[in-house]
Amino acid sequence: MLHDLEPTLEALYERYRGLNTGSVATYIPELAKADPDRFCIAVRLVDGTGFAVGDSDARFTLQSCSKPLILAQALMTAGREIVIALTGVEPTGNSFSSMVGLDQVGKPLNPMVNAGAIVTASLLAGRTREDRFERMRRNLSAYLGTEAELDEAVYESERRTSDRNRALAYLLKSKGTIEGDVEDHLDLYIRQCAIGADTQQLADAAATLANNGVNPVTGQRAVDAEFVQDILVVMLMNGMYNYAGRWAYEVGIPAKSGVSGAIMAVVPGVMGIGVYSPRLDEYGNSTRGLAVCQALSRRFNLHILDQRTPD
Ligand code: GLU
Repeated sequence: MLHDLEPTLEALYERYRGLNTGSVATYIPELAKADPDRFCIAVRLVDGTGFAVGDSDARFTLQSCSKPLILAQALMTAGREIVIALTGVEPTGNSFSSMVGLDQVGKPLNPMVNAGAIVTASLLAGRTREDRFERMRRNLSAYLGTEAELDEAVYESERRTSDRNRALAYLLKSKGTIEGDVEDHLDLYIRQCAIGADTQQLADAAATLANNGVNPVTGQRAVDAEFVQDILVVMLMNGMYNYAGRWAYEVGIPAKSGVSGAIMAVVPGVMGIGVYSPRLDEYGNSTRGLAVCQALSRRFNLHILDQRTPD
């Protein structure tokens, strides 16, 4: 099925390295420092084989790519019924930091928008702020296949500028959707977004979901198999901001994008794809990342509803 994958990635890297539309996110001041020209594409097959083309040494923060992974941890901690009751699974045509849904019913639309992700972070277990972070960090390490590390500069930068997320968190508390110390939950959410990775590690995280919850390189289980479908559905419906419908139409694989310029995409049972390029389009998706995923899906018939056999 994936005959010529490696040369295809090299060709896509060459084709899109000159695509310079879009701009780097600046609303978190530290993200504005990213080199807009960095570009890397990586894959990890479920048999453990992997390769990366381009700037494989480029490091970035997970940002919203952490959301499906924290959703997974919340599902394992609180169970499906509670998580879905509190976060919802409905698509939204609004931006990732929208308040829509909260003002009337006090519930986010899904766990891929900020409000929903703050809810999933609030469900993570632990005695103290540090203890909860350490458990989260260990779980994220299982996906990345290496010790997950906090990017302190990005963490501090977002902490100082998170007024909107703070407002969302207090609104959620006022409606009873989250309980406990709002600042603790917000801090955990900001830390999950500030976990550092390179593109191969991002592909490994995607491959862990493609491999039913087991990291194909380390053999370590990151999430119980029973929750993988929940996560992939939510990613497919909501993972690409308010471009999610078009993404499902054109690319058709579960994915999540982050404002750092990262995209992780899951081809169930086959492989994980990671792309990093910090220039974002109007929706907040990496422009080169989007182009690469569209081309890969077309080339290898990756769309999960495509019933033709590849050439
Ligand atoms: N930390 C970012 C925020 O909360 C994540 C946004 C994103 O990547 O979509 O604004």
